[in-house]
Amino acid sequence: MNIVLMGLPGAGKGTQADRITEAVHIPHISTGDMFRQAVKEETPLGREAKSYLDEGQLVPDRVTIGIVRDRLAKDDCAKGFMLDGFPRTVPQAEALDEMLKEMGKTLDHVIYIEVAEEELLKRLTGRRICQDCGATFHVVFNPPKEEGVCDRCGGQLYQREDDTEKTVAKRLSVNMEKTRTLVGYYEKQGNLRPIDGEKSIDSVSDSILDLLGSTAR
Ligand SMILES: [Zn+2]
Repeated sequence: MNIVLMGLPGAGKGTQADRITEAVHIPHISTGDMFRQAVKEETPLGREAKSYLDEGQLVPDRVTIGIVRDRLAKDDCAKGFMLDGFPRTVPQAEALDEMLKEMGKTLDHVIYIEVAEEELLKRLTGRRICQDCGATFHVVFNPPKEEGVCDRCGGQLYQREDDTEKTVAKRLSVNMEKTRTLVGYYEKQGNLRPIDGEKSIDSVSDSILDLLGSTAR
């Protein structure tokens, strides 16, 4: 079973990815892991990617796509894989289609964990950190007993600059636009599987595993 897993930051993709790989025994291929692996193994593309990363530059599509191709050609992908973080753009999606075709494979499901912008904002801006011990809380999902005060040490909680609504909204809107285009691409292709990501973690994974034909959790 060949899967792409998509979801905006805050949609719970990481949690669901773990549950999927546990239930369906296919490798979870995240872009970050894939890059680290290629760099560590010092493959020609890994070396090339490293030179861009060392300079703080974006790795060009040609290199990223090559690394994905190398990874999908490995033995553990023979029975399937779950890509996470790739593709991010339509040209990358087209490149993926092309390489799968060359390999005689097809993309079975593009799972898109859908969460409205308002809910994502709530999730992503709720984090609070203790200025003394570094403990983290969430105003909705893991609130401290007393507002603004650390349960562990009594220290004061603060919000990181990265977590403020303004910063989060900006980061989200860039991501949303790209995601929307990609979702449209897969919708047209007929393998988009939207999943309501606003339900509980358990019901989201139930919906995904139902779709994948596995009842294990
Ligand atoms: Zn503390």
